[in-house]
Amino acid sequence: MAFYVQKYGGTSVGSTERIKNVARRVARFHNQGHQVIVVVSAMSGETNRLIALAHEVQENPDPRELDVMVSTGEQVSIALLAMALKELNVKARSYTGAQVRLLTDSAFTKARILDIEADKIRADLDNGHVVIVAGFQGVDERGNITTLGRGGSDTTGVALAAALKADECQIYTDVDGIYTTDPRVVPEARRLTSITFEEMLEMASLGSKVLQIRSVEFAGKYRVKLRVLSSFEEQGEGTLITFEEDGNMEQPVISGIAFNRDEAKITVLGVPDHPGIAYQILGPVADANIDVDMIIQNVSHEDLTDFSFTVHRNDFKKTMNIIREKIQPHIGARDVIGGDRIAKVSVVGVGMRSHAGIASKMFRVLAEEGINIQMIATSEIKVSVVVDEKYMELAVRVLHKAFDLEQAL
Ligand code: ASP
Ligand code: MG
Repeated sequence: MAFYVQKYGGTSVGSTERIKNVARRVARFHNQGHQVIVVVSAMSGETNRLIALAHEVQENPDPRELDVMVSTGEQVSIALLAMALKELNVKARSYTGAQVRLLTDSAFTKARILDIEADKIRADLDNGHVVIVAGFQGVDERGNITTLGRGGSDTTGVALAAALKADECQIYTDVDGIYTTDPRVVPEARRLTSITFEEMLEMASLGSKVLQIRSVEFAGKYRVKLRVLSSFEEQGEGTLITFEEDGNMEQPVISGIAFNRDEAKITVLGVPDHPGIAYQILGPVADANIDVDMIIQNVSHEDLTDFSFTVHRNDFKKTMNIIREKIQPHIGARDVIGGDRIAKVSVVGVGMRSHAGIASKMFRVLAEEGINIQMIATSEIKVSVVVDEKYMELAVRVLHKAFDLEQAL
């Protein structure tokens, strides 16, 4: 007997028919004697619909009230799944995040999990119930409903698996695993049987969209075995996310090409180069709870330097305002420029640690296509470039081919 946390995403519960399918799969595991906690997302499109409603009423919806509202999407899914399981004569109980007491901080719309009360869930499991938990939501210590950020149900799943020590956290989604890149952009993309946590973090943060990045961080930190599988196929091992030391010996140098069109770039020009400048620019950005991705500072010339960074596209205007109003006059920078028509493309692979020449190969391939590189950043296991968004798909396709990631025929 094993103990699984299974998370089903919005598409997998996108209609009552699909919810019944999920119930049949869960029932099968349950009837084989496994213990199962199920985490579900809102039905597909529902979270977007709710957010759009809020924007009809308030230009910048109040974060606390937004969380009260968007958390209802998951509440509908858990109840429907519990009903579907009861129809199959499986004992099931649904809980909202607050009912579990999935305790978070009070950062509405991007709350972090602090603690999970496991007793009630464990008692239900021991009594032969399937326990169904609403993804994406929690409660702060004052009883306010919070949500964990878009895609947060994955993190709910992993956090439950960590807190209750499940054998495996299975993320059921509309794809059958993690691919070398998005098959919608490159039809020849190949499913990976395994990928390391580190690579997955790079792929997820760079927009592979299969898993929320925080869920992967969480799984890595608490050593939760994580598997991505299709909810539409009966068979299939999906992709296992592992530790490098457990992985297979014949790691390819590059595991995948990630891309992200959700970023915007900002450059502060003519910044006086003295200690504290980076902090003066990025401190107020961090205080506004805005995540910064790439950061690039040039060497200075005549005591002036240029400082560039990228943020999520949704934070672009807000960040530009902060820099223009609070920072530029304060530090005496010459100008602030920015743009949100950019995309980031990255090659990712732990094998890079032991192979030279990956970056130069990447730059050559892009040059051959006449694609201009606007920014470059690297880590031990990835090389990222920012390009005009109109060249993104081309860049991904040529890199995927150049690094031999295509499916064997
Ligand atoms: N329903 C939420 C969203 O769309 C959470 C999730 O699906 O994971 O972001
Ligand atoms: Mg998702």
